[in-house]
Amino acid sequence: MAKQTNLHCSFCGKSRDEVKILIAGQEGHICENCVEHAQEIIVQELQKRHEIQTTQYRFNIRKPMEIKQFLDEYVIGQTDAKKILSVAVYNHYKRITQKQQNDEVEIEKSNIIMVGETGTGKTLLAKTIARLLNVPFAIVDATVFTEAGYVGEDVESMLTRLLQVCNYDVAAAEKGIVYIDELDKIARKGDNPSITRDVSGEGVQQGLLKMLEGTEVLVPPQGGRKHPEQKMIKLNTSNILFICGGAFDGIDKVIARRINTNAIGFNVNKNEQEQQRQNLLQFVNAQDLKSFGLIPELLGRLPVVTHLDPLDAKTLRSILTEPKNSLVKQYTRLFEYEGIALKIEDEVLDFMVKKALEYKLGARGLRTICEHILTDAMFELPGTGVEKLDVSLEYAAEKLGNSKLNMLKVA
Ligand code: ADP
Repeated sequence: MAKQTNLHCSFCGKSRDEVKILIAGQEGHICENCVEHAQEIIVQELQKRHEIQTTQYRFNIRKPMEIKQFLDEYVIGQTDAKKILSVAVYNHYKRITQKQQNDEVEIEKSNIIMVGETGTGKTLLAKTIARLLNVPFAIVDATVFTEAGYVGEDVESMLTRLLQVCNYDVAAAEKGIVYIDELDKIARKGDNPSITRDVSGEGVQQGLLKMLEGTEVLVPPQGGRKHPEQKMIKLNTSNILFICGGAFDGIDKVIARRINTNAIGFNVNKNEQEQQRQNLLQFVNAQDLKSFGLIPELLGRLPVVTHLDPLDAKTLRSILTEPKNSLVKQYTRLFEYEGIALKIEDEVLDFMVKKALEYKLGARGLRTICEHILTDAMFELPGTGVEKLDVSLEYAAEKLGNSKLNMLKVA
C-alpha cells in the first residue's frame, strides 16, 4: 500500500493529496480538474467543427419588414427607430451569414446608437429584437466601466455577461447582441484635456473601440477585473452587434445650434417646448453626438444613429393595453390564476396615464402606478373565493391616494 502515496495526475502532475479525485487508467491517472478542462476542450473543438449543436440558440434571420412587424407587437410608436433598427439588424446578420472568403467587398458592422429620453423603449427594442432572432442578449451599463487599470470594471466584462446568459456557449455568444445603456454618461468631460485623466469617460470610450469593431478578446469568465492567474475565455467580437442607448440630456440644444434654429423658445408653453424638443431629436446625427462628447473614433464604429420620441399621453395609454404583454394583460392573467376576473375601467386607464405624466414617471411609472392600485387586492383576495374585481375610478384614486407615490406629486 505504500505505493499509493506516490500517485499523481499524469496530466498536471499534482499529487494525490493536492486533488479531490484521482481516476486510474491503465497506465496513469487523471484528476478532476483535468477531466473538467478536457471536457471544455472537447466541447470547443466539436463546436468549431460544427459537430455538436450549440445549445438552444439557432438564430432566425428575418426580413426587415418582419422584424418591424414583430417590434410593433411589443413596442408602441417609435416608427423611425424601429425601421432603422430593423434594417441595421438585418444587414448585420446578413453580413455574418453571407460572408464569403476572399470577398473584396467587406461589409462593415452596423452597430447602433439610440438617442431618447429614459423610459421610451430603447432597452425594450433591443431586447425584443434579440428575442425574435433568438440570439443571446446582455444589457450592460456604461457607467460601471473605467479605463483598464483603474477601480471599476474592465469593458471586457460586458462580454462575461453575454457568455453567462448563454451558459458559456462561445459560438452563440459570438453572434449575440449587447445593449450598452447610458452611453451618454461616458461622454468626454470637457474639451480641455485636464491634468486628471478622464478614466470613466474618454478612457472607457477608447477601451470600447476595438471591441465594437471586432477583435479577439480574452474574457474573464466571472467578470470583474482581469488578474493574471485567471483562466480566460477567448471571444471574437466581429459578429457581435452592439446597440447603445442614452438620453443625451441637452443634445436638443446642440442640434438646434447646428441646424440654426432657436432651441427652446422662452415664450412658448410647456407643450410647445416638448414638441420642439421632439422635433429636434429626429435630426440627431453623429456630429451632434461628437459635440456632446463622444470621440469621433467611437462614432465611426457606431455608424447607425436613430432617435426615440418622448411618450405622450396617447402613447402611454396604448402602452397600457396594446402590446402583446401589456401591463393590463399581465395583471389580468395574474388575477386569472386566482380565479378572479379583473376589469379595469377605461377611465381608470386614462387616470393612470394622467398620473404617470403628472409624476413625470413615463412608461416605467405606469407599472408602479398599477402596482399601487392593485397591491391591496393582490394581497387580500387570494383564497377568499372572490371571483370578480372591478377597478373603478374611485377605487383607483383611493388606493393611489393612500400610497407613498402620492408624495411624488410635482407642484
Ligand atoms: P429605456 O431603455 O429607453 O430607458 P425601457 O425600454 O427600459 O426604456 O422602457 C421601460 C419600460 O417602459 C419597458 O419595459 C416597457 O414596459 C415600457 N415602455 C417604454 N416605452 C415603450 C413603448 N414605446 N412601447 C411599449 N412599452 C414601452
